[in-house]
Amino acid sequence: MPEPIKYICSCCGKEHEEWPALAFIAPDNYDHLSDEEKEQLGELDTDFCTITYPDHTDKFIRCTLTQKVTDHCEDMEYGLWVSLSDKSYQDYKDNFDNENHKTKYFGWLCNDLPDYEFNDNIPTTVLTKLGNDRPEIVPHNDFEHPFVHDYYNGINKAEAERRIRDMLEKTSAND
Ligand SMILES: [Zn+2]
Repeated sequence: MPEPIKYICSCCGKEHEEWPALAFIAPDNYDHLSDEEKEQLGELDTDFCTITYPDHTDKFIRCTLTQKVTDHCEDMEYGLWVSLSDKSYQDYKDNFDNENHKTKYFGWLCNDLPDYEFNDNIPTTVLTKLGNDRPEIVPHNDFEHPFVHDYYNGINKAEAERRIRDMLEKTSAND
């Protein structure tokens, strides 16, 4: 496990450990394919993913999601994928290098976070950012789900640290 990076927090003046972003390198839809299917149907890079079936193509982009932490100066960052409509995906792709492109899309969340059960897809709004940072995911607040509840109400620092620890342990187990 890498040594945590420490810094003096500008908010409270105390020393904090920098939290890594909890990032998924692919949407689950891609992860669940066999190696052969990935080869034949899938395309994946750092920001875009497509899965091409005989009758349609599923399209995904990589975004970020900020999980509010109630008793800490810093929030937690997730790197997550959403699926977009053909039209939204094309618009995002066409404007990928355009620093002044500010818009929003509808997207379905495409990663099952390990701390929740997902029986339904979570509807989200995807907000592109000026200056080419990855777009921000905002789950629809009228959708009943513990993940949506936590997004709007926050989690505590102990819970955030537990999630980070679990993720780091899982990642190093896969190496
Ligand atoms: Zn602080």
